[in-house]
Amino acid sequence: QKAEWAKLVNEPTVSSDNHHVELVANIGTPKDLKGVIENGGEGVGLYRTEFLYMGREQLPTEDEQFESYKAVLEGLTGKPVVVRTLDIGGDKELPYLDLPKEMNPFLGFRAIRLCLEEQEIFRTQLRALLRASIYGNLKIMFPMIATLDEFRAAKALLEEEKQKLLSEGQKVSDEIELGIMVEIPSTAILADQFAKEVDFFSIGTNDLIQYTMAADRMNQRVSYLYQPYSPSILRLVKMVIDASHAEGKWTGMCGEMAGDETAIPLLLGLGLDEFSMSATSILKARSQIRNLKKSDMEKLAQEVLNMQTTAQVIEAVNAATK
Ligand code: PEP
Ligand code: MG
Repeated sequence: QKAEWAKLVNEPTVSSDNHHVELVANIGTPKDLKGVIENGGEGVGLYRTEFLYMGREQLPTEDEQFESYKAVLEGLTGKPVVVRTLDIGGDKELPYLDLPKEMNPFLGFRAIRLCLEEQEIFRTQLRALLRASIYGNLKIMFPMIATLDEFRAAKALLEEEKQKLLSEGQKVSDEIELGIMVEIPSTAILADQFAKEVDFFSIGTNDLIQYTMAADRMNQRVSYLYQPYSPSILRLVKMVIDASHAEGKWTGMCGEMAGDETAIPLLLGLGLDEFSMSATSILKARSQIRNLKKSDMEKLAQEVLNMQTTAQVIEAVNAATK
């Protein structure tokens, strides 16, 4: 099987009825690029920049960050690279920031919430990204967006830093797409409003499932509620994809679900445009998608949206794809 998959490294990801989707990778450092290229990744759908900030004593400088972003953009020679701005908090701590302990870290001061408050940290990252933008196809994505106001505030800071750089005579790409993670239910529910202002969505199912089910993703005792194929989750995913398409925008997914064998037929049927997963899953997913017929998966997706339980959905997917 592995040998069969290996033949697909340079093949496009198309369904049997010729619908094209993008298969891209989740990475944490420039070192991960080798795996992306070896496994035929068509780009990066999620560059988790937290790792630049972790395992050290102080914040990374603008130049250190610039070098990392530039390395990834150049390494992928013009292929799309979605860089997510700092998503610290929750399970990812930065000891040197000395933040107070919280009762509910996953519901607390994290990601974009922290960045909009600690603006110097955020502005430094934005400047590094803007400077790196001329070395490839950069897309910037904000994590944990819950309201339009947060998106607008983050975008305004990006715009300010861009103007500053330009007035200093630095070059910045004019073609940076700006998107958000959809990982909080409020944002999925208002996706039609967001779609008018963002360039793209990327659905973060690891958090979207946790927040929709109100079940801590790290807590074993409630892990039975972690149900990617629940019709509730699938309906949210559909709302987001449909809302983006109505505005001529695209939707990706960068949570674990995007690389999941049972989820892939459903996501194809729902019209997901970009699937971002660990590099080692890409060839298997490509092989799977090339054997699926999108029009059949659309019918399947339509059916499961009206089912009651996860078990019923799994059974329907198995029956339709065996
Ligand atoms: C997600 O929430 O699905 C996601 C991709 O982000 P992270 O796993 O880094 O929270
Ligand atoms: Mg997340």
